[in-house]
Amino acid sequence: MRACVFCEIIAGRKAAGVVHADDSVVAILDHKPATVGHVLVIPRVHMTGLAEADDAVGAAIWRAARRVSGALRASGLRCDGVRLSLADGEAAGQDVFHLHLHVVPRYPGDGVVVAADWKKRSRDLLDEDAALIREALAR
Ligand SMILES: [Zn+2]
Repeated sequence: MRACVFCEIIAGRKAAGVVHADDSVVAILDHKPATVGHVLVIPRVHMTGLAEADDAVGAAIWRAARRVSGALRASGLRCDGVRLSLADGEAAGQDVFHLHLHVVPRYPGDGVVVAADWKKRSRDLLDEDAALIREALAR
């Protein structure tokens, strides 16, 4: 099994542009940024996806992402807005299977595309969808 690139970075065995580190998370620059200043917030403990991340890990990721977002706006890098995204699973576009939250500086004309087939869904179908999710939450 190949070593996890994020675990290698966290262990200091691989170089990265670290912008923040605390007891729970490390935040680094993405080596292939969507825009300049694109940061990844990564829990120190290896976990693949959201199912393994407890509330404390989630809070630590959120706290760092909020701080980094504010810092990006104040950094002098181009940043009129920030988009957060987290891909949980290959079907969602996850490419490194160590949980990470993307913090992407945004500005008009930045070339970032968030594409989907935004189809309107009927009230009845929305109610059915909501019922399925509520049932799953209650389990
Ligand atoms: Zn890892």
